[in-house]
Amino acid sequence: MEKQRPERNETERLDREYTLGTWTRQRDFDPTQIVDTEGPRIVTADGDSILDFSSQYVCTSLGYDAERIADAVSEQIREVPYVSPGWSTEPRAKLSEKLADITPGSLKKTFYSTSGTEANEVAFKIARAYTGKHKILSRYRSYHGATAASLSASGDPRRVAQGPEIQPEVPGMIKGPDPYAYGSSLDPDESLEYIDEMLELEGGTVAGVLVEPLVGSNGVLTPPDDYLPRLQEIARDHGALLICDEVMTGFGRTGEWFASTLYDAEPDIITMAKGLTGSYQPLAATTVTEEIGEYFEDNLLNQGHTFSGHPVACAAGIAAIDTYEEEELVENASEMGSYLKSELEALADRHPSVGERRGVGLHQGIELTKSERERVPFEERSDKVSSKQTVLDEVGARALENDVYFYTSVNTIVVTPPLTITEAHVDEAIAALDDALEISDSAMDE
Ligand code: PLP
Repeated sequence: MEKQRPERNETERLDREYTLGTWTRQRDFDPTQIVDTEGPRIVTADGDSILDFSSQYVCTSLGYDAERIADAVSEQIREVPYVSPGWSTEPRAKLSEKLADITPGSLKKTFYSTSGTEANEVAFKIARAYTGKHKILSRYRSYHGATAASLSASGDPRRVAQGPEIQPEVPGMIKGPDPYAYGSSLDPDESLEYIDEMLELEGGTVAGVLVEPLVGSNGVLTPPDDYLPRLQEIARDHGALLICDEVMTGFGRTGEWFASTLYDAEPDIITMAKGLTGSYQPLAATTVTEEIGEYFEDNLLNQGHTFSGHPVACAAGIAAIDTYEEEELVENASEMGSYLKSELEALADRHPSVGERRGVGLHQGIELTKSERERVPFEERSDKVSSKQTVLDEVGARALENDVYFYTSVNTIVVTPPLTITEAHVDEAIAALDDALEISDSAMDE
């Protein structure tokens, strides 16, 4: 980014001086000011119009001009800007009813918070109270959030980045293997057998098995089609709940409202955030089955937040879901996803440094390789938390110079545009990537 605009403007100077940046040594925090947005594009203070093929943190699924949400939010602020969660408001009631309708299986009742990490923390508490057990089993290639228990449940390098003295892990969070043939020594069947055995050996102490149905920031990892239903069965056999973290995959990203549906699973708990409001407001949700909801009729739900069910955020949620429905964006994710898939596969044929294309709908990615014949990553997993410039960073920077933004993570270029895109946007993004991948091609081992 510095190459494009070395001089910081006044906003960038103030921001740099007084704001602590996320996930970074502060000397590396050097944000570019965004002053405007248009459709799926963000516009910098220097007037660069950048096609956002990441949806920021895979969250601005509606692009940037959903007028309906802007209207709903401003109306709600004028009517009832806030009341505490003990009062009832129409936006919360209607959104809860809507979520019961679009989530899979018998999921019915929703608890609200403001971020994905909180939604997961709430899921852990609910699973523990309901099952009377305390452990949570998650997987190594995963990210579930930055607060204590969610970060401990994440296998992501950020879990251990500060070392155990500063950042001890929360007790009771255990981890199993992943089902990804590309990059794991266990095949998917073995990984399920391993989890089955873990649950057996944990002796009935596991409350919940937590998974991203289709892993996001740890490399867009697609499971085999039958993986999730089999995992659900294994969890149930051991008296553990299946918790699907759909913070990233929810709300149409995979061409279904939820990836759990895509894989024919009926989780006991789903967590969501990001696409729930298209990120126009911070809102997260933990939705549980009717049966779990019933349990809490006579048992304490020992959880609450000042902003739980915030009426303005819930109004944004309803308007967002209306927009997905009326503009048929879930269907568009599926259609554009097929086109994107064929274009990415063609790109992989042209570039030897593309090792594998993965993903479904508008939740796709390409993993880079140093060696055409084998899976040899340019980037070690630990590089994700260092300030070292990696080949992946350079590819991302070149794409940005070409005015297309991709999120890059764990050796993978994540391709997750807003659900509003057209084929012309895909063509534009592929052209930018085609040029950028020359960098990784020429950095390959001889
Ligand atoms: N779960 C998944 C799958 C995520 O991708 C993320 C964030 O990227 C989270 C949880 C945490 O969400 P938040 O950043 O809103 O706390």
